[in-house]
Amino acid sequence: MSIFKKFKSTIGLVQKLDLEKIGKLAEKVDLNKMIGLVSSMKQEDLQKLVKFMEGGKKKHEFPEIDGDFYDLHQVLNPEERAIQLAVREFMQKEIKPIVNNYWLKDEFPHQIIPQLAKLNICGLTYEGYGCPGRSSLLEGFLAMEMARVDCSVSTFFGVQSGLAMGSIYHCGSEEQKQKWLPVMQRMEIIGAFGLTEPEVGSGVAGGLTCTCKQVGGKWILNGQKKWIGNATFSDITIIWARDLDDGNVKGFIVEKDFPGFAAEKIKGKMALRIVQNALITLTNCEVPEGNRLQRANSFKDTAKVLRMTRAGVAWQAVGCARGAYESALRYTNERKQFGRTISSFQMVQDLLVTMLSNLTAMQTMVCRLSQLQDDGKLTDEQASLAKVFCTLRTRDIVSHARELFGGNGILIEHDIARFVADAEAIYSYEGTKEINTLIVGRSITGQSAFI
Ligand SMILES: Cc1cc2nc3c(=O)[nH]c(=O)nc-3n(C[C@H](O)[C@H](O)[C@H](O)COP(=O)(O)OP(=O)(O)OC[C@H]3O[C@@H](n4cnc5c(N)ncnc54)[C@H](O)[C@@H]3O)c2cc1C
Repeated sequence: MSIFKKFKSTIGLVQKLDLEKIGKLAEKVDLNKMIGLVSSMKQEDLQKLVKFMEGGKKKHEFPEIDGDFYDLHQVLNPEERAIQLAVREFMQKEIKPIVNNYWLKDEFPHQIIPQLAKLNICGLTYEGYGCPGRSSLLEGFLAMEMARVDCSVSTFFGVQSGLAMGSIYHCGSEEQKQKWLPVMQRMEIIGAFGLTEPEVGSGVAGGLTCTCKQVGGKWILNGQKKWIGNATFSDITIIWARDLDDGNVKGFIVEKDFPGFAAEKIKGKMALRIVQNALITLTNCEVPEGNRLQRANSFKDTAKVLRMTRAGVAWQAVGCARGAYESALRYTNERKQFGRTISSFQMVQDLLVTMLSNLTAMQTMVCRLSQLQDDGKLTDEQASLAKVFCTLRTRDIVSHARELFGGNGILIEHDIARFVADAEAIYSYEGTKEINTLIVGRSITGQSAFI
């Protein structure tokens, strides 16, 4: 290098010098000595030193985000785990990208039905009739995986696979099972479940006002059903009605084109907006005897179906909570305030750990619940306790998660607002907190406090 060039580059260097920083450095080290040492170093040693110092400034690597803190998935066998991961992939690839748009539009994405059918998970626990005959434990994990991305899709699926198919599986004759279950398993026929009425919700066990009356070889149904998920487009709806002659509750497979059946969409929901809920009106609706569920003789038979699906709702709550927790952890690792990621703040970590503790307790509880179910030992009160506990804690978790998103927490694009809203519906359906609490209270005290 020529003397002129050396001079020019030295002037350039001097112009760039930050005298304040040099001053601070001089307080810590003897600058003369340091310059002497560094300038006498071999070039390769100098390069090593620079590399070492840059290495120290490496970007912080965040641990993998996984709400299964106790590795509960290990209770599944390898084949079941593969199914869980296939459902996870489906939800991430096919549902996550479209879900907020459909939620806002208040519409159901019908194109997902054949895709869901391909997963071969519908009617998962039933034996025969084209159903996979797998464990309740796996079914729970799958409900969780779905709700972890979207509670509406999980609800749609729960109505089809649990409430509608379950009513036929538990209360139908052999002929009815042969006719309906295989096509429903392949999701070629979509079902709904009509129990709740405009004036009778919590009190359905003794208070159904929808009536049925046998006239010759037919039944005549009259009354209304409210909140019936999938019923705006379902091919069949299971309708529960009280027999005007013997006073017992009976179940019917009502096909959408039966005369006297009308389903009107319930508009203006602030939760589970993708689920299409209907107000059904039955006006002298004619149902052939062949469509009466032959083994549904009283509300006790309806309750058998609800016991099974209530456990599913507890798992769904776990999924909703897990989705919210994982989204919040991801966000707090990305979002910076005061020059630091907000997940590095003590109070943020406190909220995250509170969420994880509740989530882990919920997951442990529902795993045991499903084991009891698989052993054929699940009681109504055990299912109710899990439903109450998990939906209550889910409400807390989604609210903490939303808090951690700050203002962004109310924007649909961050998913969390959807989880917050959807948790409200899960909290109320399939028995409110009060009703499930009363079921458990009656069991542990031996005294009914219902009225
Ligand atoms: C999104 C959504 C989807 C649904 N899907 C379906 C479906 O597919 N099929 C179907 O049949 N139903 C469905 N439901 C209905 C659901 O199961 C009912 O909403 C639920 O059972 C509560 O009934 P309710 O809304 O009439 O409330 P109510 O029974 O009127 O209760 C109102 C309040 O009073 C309290 N309460 C009532 N009785 C007592 C008591 N004895 N002691 C203390 N407190 C009491 C309740 O806990 C609640 O807090 C759905 C509901 C929603 C919101």
